[in-house]
Amino acid sequence: DADETVHVALGDRAYDIRIGRGALDETGASARALGARKVGIVTDANVARAHLPRVMESLKRAGIDASAVTVAPGEASKNLGTLGEVVDHLLAARIERGDLVLALGGGVVGDLAGFAAAVLRRGVRCLQAPTSLLAQVDSSVGGKTGVNSRHGKNLIGAFHQPSLVLADVDALDTLPEREFRAGYAEVAKYGLLGDEAFFAWLEGAHGGVFGGGPERIEAIAASCRAKAAIVARDELERGDRALLNLGHTFGHALEADVGYDGSRLVHGEGVAIGMAMAFRFSAALGLCGTDDAARVERHLAAVGLPTSAKAIPGGVSGADALLEHMRQDKKVEGGALTFILARGVGQAFVARDVDPAKVLGFLEREL
Ligand code: NAD
Ligand code: ZN
Repeated sequence: DADETVHVALGDRAYDIRIGRGALDETGASARALGARKVGIVTDANVARAHLPRVMESLKRAGIDASAVTVAPGEASKNLGTLGEVVDHLLAARIERGDLVLALGGGVVGDLAGFAAAVLRRGVRCLQAPTSLLAQVDSSVGGKTGVNSRHGKNLIGAFHQPSLVLADVDALDTLPEREFRAGYAEVAKYGLLGDEAFFAWLEGAHGGVFGGGPERIEAIAASCRAKAAIVARDELERGDRALLNLGHTFGHALEADVGYDGSRLVHGEGVAIGMAMAFRFSAALGLCGTDDAARVERHLAAVGLPTSAKAIPGGVSGADALLEHMRQDKKVEGGALTFILARGVGQAFVARDVDPAKVLGFLEREL
């Protein structure tokens, strides 16, 4: 199980993603190599229980002064009030420009701590130590940080690239199975959007990815390489980066429809359903074959992910309500509906100005 390093080529803000077993035990050495004297750790209660002691130990061994602030687990912590508390804690700990904020946790902690680092003293470096599969393959890479507003998710934030990403694959052993599966939807996404060979490999290797074999490191590294390449091409999402939203236009609408009730639908499950829908919609529009859509469904089902809105406990409201949620999505500009559609597995493209009548007709057949 060799460690992997993926480089994110962003000029003077370039950084590495280090993926390997026990990577968290190198936190101290990594912080030292970055020249930090102090580290302000942001984590959540679940992750603190499972992993904070060895991170503190590693920092201590490296002679680095560390303090930690622990937030409540869950999406609700991504708000301005909690951000204020985190920033206050970091200021009280006298974290300065040359020091580091360490985001130790899933995507919630990564987004919150990353944003705290972006605004603290107008910008302090951030080390992302993602502990969920979703965070290791997606949210810790690319520099999007932020919190939610009552007007919608992720509406307050900043681009703030990390200085290093340390992805400890062993940390995933304590992640609940449902969360691992949900994160896997984003792994499959990279194959579906641009890399048929990777998707074909996953069709055979998913057992090893879930079982913690060497395939896990390979799948995470391949995902990070895919995301790093897209981010390097389009850091601020003016074009191609939108491909990463494959499955997300439908998925976000479903998440909004269930009121972000994670007991009914977690993000990755919404993305899985959304990707299956994007391929069925593409097939209905004559862009790809129905066999492509069936192949997507088969793989997602094989790992236990849902592929239809009908699988959501309690069901969803209706086609009109879903279309309305899509119109409210922050990525919709001037009322135009943008979808990521596909000409086949690994051949996604950004389709702007999709006809709402076609979307509505498709949704009515789906529900
Ligand atoms: P999360 O951070 O809430 O983590 C999921 C659950 O797993 C939480 O209960 C957490 O406490 C727990 N957990 C995490 N790691 C664990 C571990 N190793 N052991 C035990 N429990 C662990 O959710 P997530 O799915 O990681 O991230 C979702 C968030 O990521 C959303 O807020 C989403 O908006 C954001 N996101 C951001 C980007 C980006 O580019 N910035 C991209 C995708 C998603
Ligand atoms: Zn996602």
